[in-house]
Amino acid sequence: MAIGTVLPGEEGLLIAAASPIVPQQGSDLKLPSGPPAILVFAKLLDQDFLARLADDLGIEGPSYAAPSTATSDEFTRIQLEGPTGEAVGAIAWRPWHPGLSQLKWLIPALLGSLAVFWLFTRIVLRSIRRATTAIRRSEARFRDIAEASSDWIWETDRDLNLTYVSEHFGRATGLIPSDVLGRPLHRVLQRRDATEAQERNGGIGVAASFRDILCLLHTDGRETRTLRVAGKPVLDPKRNLIGYRGTATDITAEVEAQRQLQFFARHDPLTGLPNRMVLLSRLEETLVRGRRDHQTAAMLCLDLDRFKAVNDGFGHAAGDQVLVGCAERLRGCIRDTDLVARLGGDEFAVLQVGVTRIEDVHALCERILAVMAQPFRLDGTEAVVGASVGVAMIPADGDQAARILQKADIALYRAKAEGRNRARLFEAWMDERQRRRRDLETALRHALTAGQLEIHYQPQVSIESTALIGVEALLRWRHPDRGPIAPAEFIPVAEETGLIVPIGDWVLRAACRVAARWPQLTVSVNVSPTQFRERDLVWSVEKALAAAHLPPERLEIEITEGVLIQNTAEALRTLTQLKQVGIKIAMDDFGTGYSSLSYLQKFPFDKIKIDRSFVASLCEENSSIIRAIVNLGHSLGMHTCAEGVETKEQLWLLRREGCEQAQGYLFGAAMDADMVDLLMPAAVAGPRSPRLRAVG
Ligand code: C2E
Ligand code: MG
Ligand code: MG
Repeated sequence: MAIGTVLPGEEGLLIAAASPIVPQQGSDLKLPSGPPAILVFAKLLDQDFLARLADDLGIEGPSYAAPSTATSDEFTRIQLEGPTGEAVGAIAWRPWHPGLSQLKWLIPALLGSLAVFWLFTRIVLRSIRRATTAIRRSEARFRDIAEASSDWIWETDRDLNLTYVSEHFGRATGLIPSDVLGRPLHRVLQRRDATEAQERNGGIGVAASFRDILCLLHTDGRETRTLRVAGKPVLDPKRNLIGYRGTATDITAEVEAQRQLQFFARHDPLTGLPNRMVLLSRLEETLVRGRRDHQTAAMLCLDLDRFKAVNDGFGHAAGDQVLVGCAERLRGCIRDTDLVARLGGDEFAVLQVGVTRIEDVHALCERILAVMAQPFRLDGTEAVVGASVGVAMIPADGDQAARILQKADIALYRAKAEGRNRARLFEAWMDERQRRRRDLETALRHALTAGQLEIHYQPQVSIESTALIGVEALLRWRHPDRGPIAPAEFIPVAEETGLIVPIGDWVLRAACRVAARWPQLTVSVNVSPTQFRERDLVWSVEKALAAAHLPPERLEIEITEGVLIQNTAEALRTLTQLKQVGIKIAMDDFGTGYSSLSYLQKFPFDKIKIDRSFVASLCEENSSIIRAIVNLGHSLGMHTCAEGVETKEQLWLLRREGCEQAQGYLFGAAMDADMVDLLMPAAVAGPRSPRLRAVG
């Protein structure tokens, strides 16, 4: 039996156990008799023991405490009891709180981590919020742009079937977006000018960006719009193609503007006919074909005979109406394979291709002349314009476009010269005539400085008193080799080349200087439209008068309606200024133009010169025109002068009809100044002045 006891001590506790030494039951061991031997075991639980205990058990600061000693809560204790169960003391130690010490440094770290985590979360959340707002804004922006933009936005799947179209699509096309969704892009937008291969996929390369593809879209209003389509592939994060996305820009207006621009670069805006450029290229083609296939063609150049008169008399709007009408009539005369073009102004051209017989050319000319001779209804009245035609044959008349046109032009000039309203085929001698005209121009350039020009004066008489009252200055050109050249031949050349300006200036100065010798006479000087267009005509007149010391009322200028046809307002302004200078103004060749009458109302002429064609046809039975002109002149307060009076009968009739002045071979042709000097006694000098012999 073991007994034990705990003996408290200062150094520690003594723990003792005693037990008699007896053999185990059944053992053979024989113990000596007598009291049994006692085994006493004592163990001092000193400080070393406690230290070892602390080490072994991992507890901190174990100590002995008396049984009655109370220990604070922070100590854990084990009661030590004696053999009878009485408390003999206790071992007390501070219990080990695992992690408490770690907590001391862990908590701040944890708190720090928490703070970092909280901060991080906040940042992440804020970023997410920002990103979401940005996405929302971006989406709104996209929507706004998609709706406000004139373009529309589309998306397809990888097979190019539409999966999205922006709202604008519906508004722009009148189609319902859901109707097109699911349909292939290139069926909704059909590629313009597509090849067969492009037709299949709309020209879109596999997984490739594309742009500037022109497509046509048929809207619900059966209207076809042109769109410029651009797009790019859409890839997923693994870079697999998932579809396409892009824009479609409606460029219908742009395309139309471009088409119009191209059209007007090649067509005349007024009549819609092809212009000179188109004619030239067709002519070139025809010449090439002519050389290759021996095909014949005819080049017709046309000029309206009285267009300027109509234009001026009825106004520009009426002129335009006539041109449009002429274009229509010409179109009606030709076959589809032929070409009619407007070359500018009142000039047209017709290219008749594949003509085998010259009769066909004549027939076309006849058709054209016939339709052009039909009157136009303008302002309630009828106006006949008529046309002249010149024809050059391809290849007979040349193998170059410019030469063909030139020859057709020469033939046209001939047709006009022969009295208009006719057609002429080019002939070699016409070319010669043209060359002569060019030579004339060269010669005329030297004529003035070479002193080959001179002025002759034709008498003008008063029919009532038969006195010489004035002279008309008429230009004469005596060419050293070719002799006298008629004004009808060289004046048009001078006008075309502008030479008439220095020549006319010279006539004005010379005539004024000579006229100063004849104080009783008025000198009439012809002024051409070209001179009139020169801004300093008024100044030239003033200078000529001043240089000759000629009173302005003794100078008269004669103008034809040609002056007023071009830029009437400007011409009327110049006429008014001339009138203010004090000179007289006469309307020459009255009755030959279309609208002479309207000009008479626009400007207070001093004199009307009745064209000699009316005088030539004047007879007892046919004097009504002269009478009408004379009466008109009187009613407008203008004098009348008959031109080209050759017979006494004409003079007599003119006197009877009340015409006041006459000019013509009956009184004398144009003569040089010295001859006029001889006539001066016949001039108005007073009651006893002699009369012109011819009249007496
Ligand atoms: P015009 O001004 O009508 O001149 C009258 C024309 O009729 C002159 O022809 C004259 O010689 C002609 N003539 C005169 N009396 C008779 C007659 O009884 N019978 C016939 N058959 N004819 C007659 P000319 O001199 O050949 O002049 C022709 C035209 O040339 C003139 O017509 C005028 O328009 C123009 N012209 C002449 N000199 C000048 C000039 O210095 N400057 C300008 N710009 N033109 C001029
Ligand atoms: Mg004249
Ligand atoms: Mg005349």
